[in-house]
Amino acid sequence: MGRLSTLFAPDRVAVVGASDEPGSVGRAVTGHLVEDFRGEVLAVNPNRETVLELVCHDSLSALPAPGEVDVAVVLVPPELAVEAVREAGEVGIGNVVVVTAGFSEAGSEGAARERELAAAAEEFDLNLVGPNSLGVMSTPSGLNATFAPTSPDPGSISFMSQSGAFVTAVLDWAAERHLGFKDVVSLGNKAVLDESDFVREWGEDPDTDVVLGYLEDVADGRRFVEVASEVTRETPVVVVKSGRTEAGATAAASHTGAMAGSDRAYGAGLDAAGVVRVDTVEELFDAAAVLSGQPLPDRSAVAIVTNAGGPGVMTTDAVGDTDLGLASLTDGTRETLREDLPGGANIHNPVDIIGDAPVERFERALDTVLADPNVGMAVVLACPTATLSFDDLAAAAVDLQAEHGVPMAAVLMGGASTRSAAATLSEAGVPSYFDPARAVDSLETLAEYADIREREVAEPATFDVDRERARAVLDRARDRDTTRLGVEAMELLDAYGIPTPAGAVVDDPAEAVAVAEETGGEVVMKVVSPDILHKSDIGGVEVGVPVGEVRDVYETLVARARRYQPDATVLGVQVQELLDVSAGTETIVGINRDPQFGPLVLFGLGGVFVEVFEDTAVRLAPVAEREARAMTEGIEAAPLLRGARGRDPVDLDGLVEVIGRLSQLATDFPAIEELDINPVVATAEGATAVDLRLTLDLEAL
Ligand code: ADP
Ligand code: MG
Repeated sequence: MGRLSTLFAPDRVAVVGASDEPGSVGRAVTGHLVEDFRGEVLAVNPNRETVLELVCHDSLSALPAPGEVDVAVVLVPPELAVEAVREAGEVGIGNVVVVTAGFSEAGSEGAARERELAAAAEEFDLNLVGPNSLGVMSTPSGLNATFAPTSPDPGSISFMSQSGAFVTAVLDWAAERHLGFKDVVSLGNKAVLDESDFVREWGEDPDTDVVLGYLEDVADGRRFVEVASEVTRETPVVVVKSGRTEAGATAAASHTGAMAGSDRAYGAGLDAAGVVRVDTVEELFDAAAVLSGQPLPDRSAVAIVTNAGGPGVMTTDAVGDTDLGLASLTDGTRETLREDLPGGANIHNPVDIIGDAPVERFERALDTVLADPNVGMAVVLACPTATLSFDDLAAAAVDLQAEHGVPMAAVLMGGASTRSAAATLSEAGVPSYFDPARAVDSLETLAEYADIREREVAEPATFDVDRERARAVLDRARDRDTTRLGVEAMELLDAYGIPTPAGAVVDDPAEAVAVAEETGGEVVMKVVSPDILHKSDIGGVEVGVPVGEVRDVYETLVARARRYQPDATVLGVQVQELLDVSAGTETIVGINRDPQFGPLVLFGLGGVFVEVFEDTAVRLAPVAEREARAMTEGIEAAPLLRGARGRDPVDLDGLVEVIGRLSQLATDFPAIEELDINPVVATAEGATAVDLRLTLDLEAL
């Protein structure tokens, strides 16, 4: 067991601020403990003799044997709460739950008080929950140190919530769905213990089968990834993260910055942690039900057995909307079904045993289908008929699921008549729904988690790069006190082995001609200015310039820059080898830095429409080769890269290497805040970076 085991399974709990005043938090917490807790409850309240028949003590240190108290629940006003926490530390109480509000959520004074609280916890090495927490619960010991109106049913789900209100709502709702809990914690302000601590604890807890989280933020993203990626190999963690649609708080200077905002960072972080992320509370509990009740599938092929054709087709469609597939039944299975079922039945998946089916027919068909080695998961789907009792069907389905060990979800398309059958199913861990899509989604969650468990840990490759040369480029920027760099810094990419076209930045027309002559053929010319973010928007890029026109184009580009912004700093003009963009695809590869999760790498469809389509994949840096490849395969435009419609497939290996090398740059130089290579031109011959834009944090250099 982990270091929080005595928090959830204490022998003695002290309530600082115990009360019996009706309607008070103190009354609620003390009442729950007195009624349900199997251990000893001690009351601290200097103003009272007794509370709910408990003798009151003046303070924690005035308790008999205070060092034998495992948890102090603190309900007193903020100033006194800080004192109580300190005292808990002094007398040797290891865990404190600070329910009291009025800390960092309540302005700067509160924030200062919260720092005192954290300092006291650190000094005495206390496990501190909260402040501003609803409290903690643990069903095996009957611990309910919260002011929630009810206690949860016992079970194997452990749940943490950053919102206390959400805890009470969810417990109420879960009871109706026969979902039981092991531990519940309201995280509050997370002054000391945060989501990572609880994930770690529950990962070590044999009685927790599924971890659920409602999170508004993650205190330390990298630590969370480190802890959770271990835990999720054994125990599924499902998180609903609120604030998904929050608009980017800061204006980003790059495409990557605009697109790899905080929600994408969470997505990438939770993904790296092996966390199943869901969007709604309903999905959170659907996931919990199926993950705690059903085994994991050995394949993602779904079989459907139904007494109703239409809903069977709906379920088939629902499978089509997921990453799952429809199982193709073996010849043997179909043969048996043909023998067992009446003439009009469909012996192919979805197996339709027709509307007049009695439970025996359902049972036989299901038994046959579940024994098929091609079937990874099953949906049992029934509509009410005069020949079928839902209760009988539920009992049969539960038995057959247990016998075959194939994960199952049920769809009972009815109202009141399904209720007791649904209860039978959910008590046995088989989730049941009215809506086929939800049943299929829950099976998809199982398959998703099965994949997470099988995921191999891949170490990011280390490329041979010239770090000193890259540093020199950044140092030059610092010397010029510039935080924004453009194509004049392409040497940075060169130093990291990212292919760039031949060419140079020059600051007079004659040199431009010389570079163009050396490059040969037509060239591309771009104005170079830290004041111009999007060069082509102001006519600052000329593609396909013959050598004879280089001199004139040079002057034209500079003039356009001046017209756009008279005081713009123009560093010169870049003369670049012309690539055959039409034979390839313009992609974007970029870096962004998230306050919680650190460096991120973005890959997507690039060029001028990048923010219109936002077809991108985002991962935490550094990325392993396999992940970089998955990024190139994960975007909508992936077929373009593979060579759709007679185009040549692009050099995917080259592209994957660019992503890997850039990810190394991101981790090597924390001073790079945002960076875009847009486009990386990917053709059959290779992946070449033709543009560059980055912003630096000079302090971090
Ligand atoms: P910006 O993004 O600032 O407008 P870019 O350097 O990305 O400037 O150039 C704009 C577009 O010009 C690119 O998306 C690409 O289509 C084209 N382009 C730029 N450089 C080259 C090149 N070397 N060869 C072919 N096309 C290029
Ligand atoms: Mg560009």
